[in-house]
Amino acid sequence: MDEFDRGRDGRSTDLPSGGGVPSWMAQFLNFCSNCGTSLRFGQIAGEDRDRLSCPECGHIVYVNPRLVVTVFPITEDGEVVLLRRGIEPGRGQWAQPGGFLEIDETVNQAAIRETWEETGLLVEPGEIIGLYTRLEAAVVTIAFAARIVGGTAAPTAEALEIRTFPPEEIPWSGLAFRTTMWALRDWLETHRPDISWPAGEVGR
Ligand SMILES: [Zn+2]
Repeated sequence: MDEFDRGRDGRSTDLPSGGGVPSWMAQFLNFCSNCGTSLRFGQIAGEDRDRLSCPECGHIVYVNPRLVVTVFPITEDGEVVLLRRGIEPGRGQWAQPGGFLEIDETVNQAAIRETWEETGLLVEPGEIIGLYTRLEAAVVTIAFAARIVGGTAAPTAEALEIRTFPPEEIPWSGLAFRTTMWALRDWLETHRPDISWPAGEVGR
């Protein structure tokens, strides 16, 4: 399953394809949720890849990535709002607001909600800056650019500090995640091609 091009969204991942769920997730997938029998990982008739399934009742466990919805609020002057994270992972480092999409909301709702909860800013999500697949974390991160339409930035339980950065002053060495780095680079490439960034990777 490595024969297809991973594309730009694969830049932030290095796990090979075809091995099923990452090991940290496999430890929570032991028993069939239908009949309680121990699950087995391997070939299944009619399936094009190895999967977890139940040898007793035939239940197949389809495990798919979760979507992380993130937002880069952009000011009228073209500056980027980032927050210094108050929680792990990446506590004390800079990132954009974001979180897991809930089962009962749309991506747009999640973008507005997460930004509101973490920064106190009300945004209108616009352009999709990029999509980033992280196989090792079993997530896909979507990054929006957003217009600020209300609210007041203030520290929250999840943000020690909220700051606006001119593109020239993005804190590259203090970013929490590689997806934050990739999204900022992608945004600059389109909107501020005059700005360069330091070589090398940062963040987890
Ligand atoms: Zn079963």
